[in-house]
Amino acid sequence: MKIKNFIIVSLLIIILPLSLFGQEQKQLSDRGQVRERNPEDINDWRGKTVMVFAPHPDDDLSPAGTMAKLVENGNKVFIVVYTSGNKGSRDLEMTSERLAQIRKQEDIAANKILGIPEENIIWLGYDDGMLEYVPEKELCEKVCYLIRKYRPDAVFCHDAGTDWMQWHKTDHRMSAFITLDGARAAAYHLYFPHHRIYEDLQPFTVMDYFFWGSHEPNYNVDITDVIELKFEAACQHVSQFGKGNFKYTGPVMDTEDKENIRKRYMRKEPDGKMYERFRRLQGSRSF
Ligand SMILES: [Zn+2]
Repeated sequence: MKIKNFIIVSLLIIILPLSLFGQEQKQLSDRGQVRERNPEDINDWRGKTVMVFAPHPDDDLSPAGTMAKLVENGNKVFIVVYTSGNKGSRDLEMTSERLAQIRKQEDIAANKILGIPEENIIWLGYDDGMLEYVPEKELCEKVCYLIRKYRPDAVFCHDAGTDWMQWHKTDHRMSAFITLDGARAAAYHLYFPHHRIYEDLQPFTVMDYFFWGSHEPNYNVDITDVIELKFEAACQHVSQFGKGNFKYTGPVMDTEDKENIRKRYMRKEPDGKMYERFRRLQGSRSF
């Protein structure tokens, strides 16, 4: 009897991990063919940490499909929002204070749909449209601090361009440049040394950047499977898209505006898929 039990338990020990391994491999199967996990392929990432730096509370929609996929695959996503978005309304009865509150709730709701919890959103709270007038050293230190604290495997932000200066509206421009400046500072202990001395935050080098809104995309993420999530997330931004920007009636978006967003988001490429495109920059000496 004891021997029988021993054999059963032994078999279970051998078979269970094998079946779990099989399931994992299956997740990575492509058209029925099992393939190896590729560390370069963002679709294969598991257990990584990613940070998104967004100038406004709806700019995190740009990589939203990619974030939904990353979360689905067990990665951690943190969103840093530079401004409160408190100027982005044409509703003459809207106030800056109210708009900031509305937009915060919209972004929390949108990220919840993508699987990103409220506690993973970091609000820097600067005034909309004024990011370029904040002392750059202050912004640089904030980014540097967050990078050292969360130590992301990848950073997502607006593209500041390569050797040319790309047009952005003010906050987009500033967030693109300052995110890179802050991330660079994070790698060297002599920048803002008090982070290490008082909080034991060690230097950290970001090795992988994904820039959205780029004129030179070189990396596509297939978001076809998660497009519904991205669409629903976009529909949370009632104060921004459609009639709500002129006369806020939220928090639920009306059907007509929703349909317009659907048309915008559901555009398929000739291959029948939908993508988010980035300029990807890898390596410690990447900028
Ligand atoms: Zn924006």
